[in-house]
Amino acid sequence: MNRFHRFPLLLSLLLPLAAAAFALETPKSPPLSDQDRTANLDRAKEARRHWPSFGELKILYMDDLGIRALSGRYVDLYTDLPSNEKNDEIIHLLDAAVPRLCEFFHLDPRQYDDWKISAFLMTDREPFDIFGAFDFSEEEIPEFPNGFSLYDRIWVFDKNQVYYNRFLMLHELVHAFMLHTFGSLEPRWFTEGIAEFLALHRWDGQTIELGIFPDTREEVEGFGRIDRIRSFVQSGEVPSVEELLAIKPKAFDDVSSYAWCWALVTLLARHPQYADAFGALPFLAMEKDPNKPFLELLGNSAGRLAADWQNFVEWLDYGFDFDHAPDASVPGFGLEPLSDEGTSFTLDAENGCLATGVILEPGKEYRFSASGRFRVGCQGKVYPCEANGITLSYFNARPLGTLLAEIVPEKASLNELPIQTEPIGAKGTLTPKKRGELHLRLNLPTNQIKNSRGTCTVTVRP
Ligand SMILES: [Zn+2]
Repeated sequence: MNRFHRFPLLLSLLLPLAAAAFALETPKSPPLSDQDRTANLDRAKEARRHWPSFGELKILYMDDLGIRALSGRYVDLYTDLPSNEKNDEIIHLLDAAVPRLCEFFHLDPRQYDDWKISAFLMTDREPFDIFGAFDFSEEEIPEFPNGFSLYDRIWVFDKNQVYYNRFLMLHELVHAFMLHTFGSLEPRWFTEGIAEFLALHRWDGQTIELGIFPDTREEVEGFGRIDRIRSFVQSGEVPSVEELLAIKPKAFDDVSSYAWCWALVTLLARHPQYADAFGALPFLAMEKDPNKPFLELLGNSAGRLAADWQNFVEWLDYGFDFDHAPDASVPGFGLEPLSDEGTSFTLDAENGCLATGVILEPGKEYRFSASGRFRVGCQGKVYPCEANGITLSYFNARPLGTLLAEIVPEKASLNELPIQTEPIGAKGTLTPKKRGELHLRLNLPTNQIKNSRGTCTVTVRP
């Protein structure tokens, strides 16, 4: 919960407001009906009857080719990696993931009693070619650098990284599971994004948790998507939601596309505002253009998604604190223009952000001044700080704790990154490009907000 208050220059007025960012109770679009879900699953079942089949595996050659088989409940795994605990437990990991996938998509696990796929974890393609792993009459299976899935087979190249091997196997398992269940891997941004999202896992050798958000880089060795996004954010190269919805298969030659789609799916999966539209997406796979009904289900929240997306990727980091995430869909309270004599606001460091409820006009210069000493969390410690921030540590290329002003426009479309952010510090000016609500924010990673204390008084004059 965030609590904040503001007061005009002379008259002090306390207005606490609950605004925990990713826990908003918002009106939801009507969810997909049971009937629609079942109809889509039936269409997928019918499509499966026409699937082409692969050639037989040449089991007799296996020993000579240096390939060994590990048979599980849902997966037969063939690998040329040596037998050891880490390599051999992958079969248990994949088996453990299937019931979790059923839970995630609200599917009856009994439907998967007879489901079995073949998985190939390879250091080298050649022996697997001879083995018949790629023996498919319909088409040549292309060269690929990491992993590939087709109908009921998945292939992954060994990356010599325990976590990343498991991640890639899970990514391809999700594709195989979804193609079987939903009949198609469309729309592409969603199926790649959700394979990435679900493949991020915690595994203790017995139980598996899918769809985790990593606390540290070390926890998800080889993943690297967060670092990639952070460097794009710093160079100002962030795609709009619209660009991602239209992403072409060819774009996935670049691993950055996986990173962006993972981030978009993570936002949609975690944010209650988008829960219904997101939950319907897999069941729309066989529609001609699944993005269309998805956007219809999003309804009015589509406009806010542009701002939420920009906020999410700009503040993304390891250990992202969803309870303290910036949220553009907080409407403030009774938006009003800034009074001629100016207004002061109190920004609580513990909240990190204040939606002021004040509308600023485009093209007009506003003058800011800030005072007060507060404390900010940084690398497990707490440091005294003022509005200019502390240079001990930087976030988004600015000193930690710097006062920022943001203009969140009243309306945005999915082809925009609508929020204008300017560093203010102890003194500064801002000329809005668009009419919008003024948000004040301290430059802190989300996971340091809860450790910060004290207040900063910010006066804004037209
Ligand atoms: Zn994929």
